[in-house]
Amino acid sequence: MPPVYNKPTVDKYDYVLLGGGSGGSASSRRAASYGKKVAVVEMDPYLGGTCVNVGCVPKKIMWHAADLQDKISHHASGYKLTGVEKPTFDWAAFKLQRDAYIRKLNGIYATNFDREGVEYHHGTGRLTSAKTVEVTLPDGKGKYTLNTDKICIAVGGHPIIPSDDKIPGASLGIDSDGFFDLEEQPKRVAVIGAGYIAVELAGVFNSLGTETHMVIRGETVLRTFDDTLQETLTPWMEKTGVKFHKTSNVTKIEGIKGQTLTVHTDKGEKIEVDTVLWAIGREAETKDLGLEELGVKLDAKGNVVVDEYQNSTVDNIYAIGDVQGKALLTPVAIAAGRRLSNRVFGPEKFKNDKLSYENIPTVVFSHPTIGTVGLTEAEARKRYGDAVKIYKSSFRALYFSMIEEEHKEPTVYKLIVVGPEERIVGVHIIGLGSDEVMQGFGVAVKMGARKQDLDDTVAIHPTSAEELVTLR
Ligand code: FAD
Ligand code: NDP
Repeated sequence: MPPVYNKPTVDKYDYVLLGGGSGGSASSRRAASYGKKVAVVEMDPYLGGTCVNVGCVPKKIMWHAADLQDKISHHASGYKLTGVEKPTFDWAAFKLQRDAYIRKLNGIYATNFDREGVEYHHGTGRLTSAKTVEVTLPDGKGKYTLNTDKICIAVGGHPIIPSDDKIPGASLGIDSDGFFDLEEQPKRVAVIGAGYIAVELAGVFNSLGTETHMVIRGETVLRTFDDTLQETLTPWMEKTGVKFHKTSNVTKIEGIKGQTLTVHTDKGEKIEVDTVLWAIGREAETKDLGLEELGVKLDAKGNVVVDEYQNSTVDNIYAIGDVQGKALLTPVAIAAGRRLSNRVFGPEKFKNDKLSYENIPTVVFSHPTIGTVGLTEAEARKRYGDAVKIYKSSFRALYFSMIEEEHKEPTVYKLIVVGPEERIVGVHIIGLGSDEVMQGFGVAVKMGARKQDLDDTVAIHPTSAEELVTLR
């Protein structure tokens, strides 16, 4: 078993990080690779943070289960694979298997720390000065102080649930952390929210056979995404069974947790379910860290304010990942963390290393999936006016040629280009496999690709992705 530290091993560390999630792990390991003395303080008994424990990884595994259910239930017969149309999903058994896999990943994180010379201190960290971190051992079993030259805040965030004062009964609901604790599959669920998490978890429930309600404030889901994606995904989710309660706000929740709950909306609706899931955003974990006392500035939402180099407003205190409130994505936390360590501890060639937050590709694991990079059409028109041109194609992937009409998923690809050189400033795609298609087009946009560069690329046939290099 890799060691877990409960006291300092040196008088002074080079680098102490609060949080052993995506950002903290990546930044600490990169610093240690430069021979620095590094400690990570992590309050959770399991390393890896949100992504590994209650985020990307278990979510994607659930998405695969849901995707397989869709394929077996709705697609297999089209391919004349019969006798398998009504599979039952054993949620409880699957959860055990999923949890065991996550425990393996936690172990790999601990082993990597040990192998690379990063000390893992299991406790809650708090800054007592710009050079000292106080660690409180689990269950309050004592405290000690780590002296250090530099500190990185990588504590991530947590899901928001409204207070019972604001929405009576709100605490009867669960959040995305609670989703991963569910031992049994709810028969009926109400998902409140319209962002990444609401769409992804509602999609999982719906595909796996839970009666799924979505209570959304607008007319569509993913309102910060390009209109085409919103307008394609929302009706498809409706068609596949999600019961939408649009332009609605929850006013109260009544009932008994674990039994029937009634969600009341401002439109007078009463939605009866077993589980209510809040997915209305996350907030930074910056309370009680001692930051403001030291002059580390937080914004109105509690995120640590950083410059383009991840410097906070106090020298030698940095912040990376979700806690700085921009682009809450694992690869962003990792990339920012590694570049920060390159810059602060690495060789001369990295003295200006930093992450560009421009053109970050991202995917939503909806059914079908979404991929997006760059400006939405609305953002592009605001910035570039009439210089914007749109290329768009709606089609059915070849895969669906064998599948009955009502289960043929939509595919829509959209390119947003600017100026006579037709530089690509946005790519927005929805349809089978978009999650895997997106990465390469993310590279192209990052390199400043023009429409002509796509046209000059020979298509790969027969794929959906080839549509992006043959748009007219
Ligand atoms: P975290 O990974 O949250 O790590 C912070 C760590 O700090 C935690 O382990 C916490 O226990 C610890 N900590 C907090 N306070 C203290 C303290 N005082 N002392 C010691 N330790 C402390 N991103 C993607 O790119 N793709 C996805 O598919 C994706 N899916 C997601 C699905 C869900 C349901 C959720 C919630 C998020 C998802 N994300 C996804 C986002 C991704 O998980 C986060 O962006 C990422 O984990 C942020 O990394 P981080 O290092 O900033 O914070
Ligand atoms: P998001 O910010 O994506 O979405 C939250 C949505 O909830 C808002 O867009 C808003 O939509 C709605 N909302 C906000 N407040 C309320 C309210 N009071 N009542 C009802 N609805 C409300 O947050 P998530 O929690 O979904 O996810 C957090 C972050 O985690 C994401 O931004 C993303 O960066 C990351 N993530 C990434 C994933 C991926 O890469 N695939 C997957 C999951 C999470 P509206 O304005 O339309 O009401």
